[in-house]
Amino acid sequence: MTLGFALLAPAAFADWVGDARPMMGTEVSVYLWSDDPEAGRLALEEVFDEVTRIDRLMSTYKDESDISKINREAANGPVAAGGELFGLIQRSLDISVLTRGAFDITYDSVGQYYDFRSRQRPDAGTVEQERGNIDYRLVKLDRTAGTVSFEKEGVRINLGGIAKGYAVERGVDLLRHRGISNAIVTAGGDSRLLGDRRGRPWIVGIRDPRNDGEVAISIPLEDEAVSTSGDYERYFDEDGVRYHHIIKPSTGEPAGGVQSATVFGPDAVITDALSTSVFVMGVERGLTLIGTLPDYESIVIDADGQVFYSDGLTQPDAQSRD
Ligand code: ADP
Ligand code: MG
Repeated sequence: MTLGFALLAPAAFADWVGDARPMMGTEVSVYLWSDDPEAGRLALEEVFDEVTRIDRLMSTYKDESDISKINREAANGPVAAGGELFGLIQRSLDISVLTRGAFDITYDSVGQYYDFRSRQRPDAGTVEQERGNIDYRLVKLDRTAGTVSFEKEGVRINLGGIAKGYAVERGVDLLRHRGISNAIVTAGGDSRLLGDRRGRPWIVGIRDPRNDGEVAISIPLEDEAVSTSGDYERYFDEDGVRYHHIIKPSTGEPAGGVQSATVFGPDAVITDALSTSVFVMGVERGLTLIGTLPDYESIVIDADGQVFYSDGLTQPDAQSRD
């Protein structure tokens, strides 16, 4: 998990308006600066309300959510999706094309059989059978009708790899429209920074994947989004194998080779989806992809704990960032 304020003592936020609450299956936090604390608190509540609204729309854990309805019915024919959900599914499919299928919201055809809290995982037969239902090309969008359909029975979608980025991006949008210019909104591993920390950059800590509570690398950032995907967020170990929540679509198994992938850049929707993608693609392919995206950079920690940086970070003028 990346916490923008991981390196700051609580006193650093003494005069800030902020709170952290359990939401979206993780912790969501908002810290903002406002000269008028009352107005600041109203803005804070507005952000939390917005996150609640987005979760209601996009959580597969809620039977009544629009996405659950799609999962129940889209194999039988087109299901209407509101513009916002339709838009995020469209962006997910675009990122699947960009990442050649490393990011794929249909991972859930297999992913649904994991329950990390009770150490449950699909058996080999289930993985073998459901793997064929992981393919973003089986999801069809009709822009004119605003509908989603699946080309096959058994396909399921889950926006767990992109919805938190969307939520923090929306949260920061709301704050900006209220005239706030310094804030950090975090949902689990995804943070969106608005401005700086009043004259100083935010210091974002990338967690040491194998030492709980320790920070491996810290980077100063302003006005950017940063997302980390790690194999330590939801997992269990069994017979020396780590079963975690990031699925490699081509195998239907948890992706190996990486302990954490961090991506930063202007848009949290993109950093969220790309951190999951780089995790799946591995150090070499992942950093090559990031190298083609001028606004985005990445730091990957591989299975041996070795740290790798995208090209933009090793260039002389960016050296001071790491
Ligand atoms: P976190 O949820 O810890 O912020 P990520 O952003 O990496 O971490 O998202 C991981 C989530 O993405 C998983 O819990 C799952 O919901 C979803 N997911 C897993 N594998 C994939 C994949 N290959 N493509 C898209 N989404 C995935
Ligand atoms: Mg992600």
